Amino acid sequence: MTGAFHPPLRTLMGPGPSDVPPQVLEALGRPTIGHLDPQFVTLMDDIKRLLQYVFQTDNALTLPISAPGSAGMEAAFVNLIEPGDKVIVCQNGVFGGRMKENVERCGASAIMVEDTWGTEVSLDKVEQAFFENNNIKALAFVHAETSTGVRSDAKALAAIAHKHDALVIMDTVTGLAGIPVEVDTWGIDCAYSGTQKCLSCTPGIAPITFSQRAQDVIANRSTKVQSWFLDMQLIMGYWGANTKRAYHHTAPVNAMYALHESLRLVEAEGLAAAHARHALHHKALVAGLEAMGLSMAVAADVRLPQLNAVNIPEGVDDGGVRAALLEQFDLEIGAGLGALAGKTWRIGLMGFSAKAVNVRKCLLALETVLS
Ligand code: PLP
Repeated sequence: MTGAFHPPLRTLMGPGPSDVPPQVLEALGRPTIGHLDPQFVTLMDDIKRLLQYVFQTDNALTLPISAPGSAGMEAAFVNLIEPGDKVIVCQNGVFGGRMKENVERCGASAIMVEDTWGTEVSLDKVEQAFFENNNIKALAFVHAETSTGVRSDAKALAAIAHKHDALVIMDTVTGLAGIPVEVDTWGIDCAYSGTQKCLSCTPGIAPITFSQRAQDVIANRSTKVQSWFLDMQLIMGYWGANTKRAYHHTAPVNAMYALHESLRLVEAEGLAAAHARHALHHKALVAGLEAMGLSMAVAADVRLPQLNAVNIPEGVDDGGVRAALLEQFDLEIGAGLGALAGKTWRIGLMGFSAKAVNVRKCLLALETVLS
């Protein structure tokens, strides 16, 4: 007989998933009801309202996609981009590269603006790309690059796109609820996220929001969205406000209970307080790491508080240290990704993981393992 799976109790301080609070895990285990049950429809309305709060938007088309952050990215591109379109894609880490893939798979061309990994997206280069190319449909960038721990200036990037009448597509998978995200004030046409980072929910759901301008673009497409599952016009039949909720797919009912609970916790704390908590514990972590002689890989003014990239000291065995942290302390930190593999560790302070006890545990564990 196959035994039941009982996971170890880890402290999750990697690039996500983050620690999930007990209230969210408890919500996940509540009785399953039908995905068209009137009670579930009430929960869906709550989730949409709470997502509007975390995205800071009045966008009617704001909902959770029943699939991970990558599906949020894909939904943004397949709905807004058509064959022959031109999209300026900023790449300063792994995820900008995935945006390029998405653009090309839509039959569109990606005009790349590349910056060194570990630095922010250059506003000057984006301006330049707009001047060198016309008829740009959209500007796409990663607000919080999880692979490097860098925050880019979303407000300024959106302002450049507006000057050139281009849509703005923003990946804020790691940004949402950890640092300010102001979809309406900044004029973002599509922003998507994931549940497993600063929302501290279980992985597997992608909150997404589309502006009215983006909705109009979708409504006036000349070609069919090539993905049936991610076609927003079809999804709206289930999640939309004005239609009778009709079957599109079977929603992950219990995962939605968990999302609802995690959003309630964010609402109860308040976004400003959540941002301040991330900043506070980030400062403490950096002070501790520097006191141990370690150095940060990213300049202070563009560091993400929720994702701390640390230079691995010369001669230290990257994999060996991470394995020891896991084995001896049940502590997960992240490896470097892509070009930064073997060069940095990524220490997450996301959502419920951003707390003093985790900072102390991480510092103590690293000091022990490195000494
Ligand atoms: N975009 C960014 C910036 C991410 O950090 C991630 C995941 O880490 C994704 C997209 C993809 O999300 P998921 O792994 O949930 O599919």
